[in-house]
Amino acid sequence: MSSQDRALASMVALTPPDRWGKQCVAWVESRDAECGKDAKDGFLCARHATVAKNRWEKQQAKRQAQKQKRAQHRAEHMPDWLAERDRIDAELAKRTQPLTTDRAFSGGVGTGQHRKHLRRQFSDANVERVGALLQRRQTLEAMIGDHDE
Ligand SMILES: [Zn+2]
Repeated sequence: MSSQDRALASMVALTPPDRWGKQCVAWVESRDAECGKDAKDGFLCARHATVAKNRWEKQQAKRQAQKQKRAQHRAEHMPDWLAERDRIDAELAKRTQPLTTDRAFSGGVGTGQHRKHLRRQFSDANVERVGALLQRRQTLEAMIGDHDE
């Protein structure tokens, strides 16, 4: 039996595949039992094979439509997301700039300049903002996803 047979049968079966045999495994609601006719098409009788194929196609169409909708949504928002990520990266770079590359810091460790910079960089407000930026960036990354691939 192919995986396609399995996939089709799972559209109409209730029992797990390891219990499927030579009889049609489609669940018949009105009888509250499996169909039980000889399986002609994979795990299903001819009638239930048709039912399964119809359900399968409907599900595929639905998935396709959802995929298209997602792709369209992504395409519409991608420029904004990429721009926002750039802005966040720029702000993060500024807020987490190492002391040694900070032009304002030229007086050396222990000087007033240095202490001022430290206070600014490690102030609660800055730490909070950096945390929020990192979180937003992670969310953006997830939305941007495999855009670059
Ligand atoms: Zn059947």
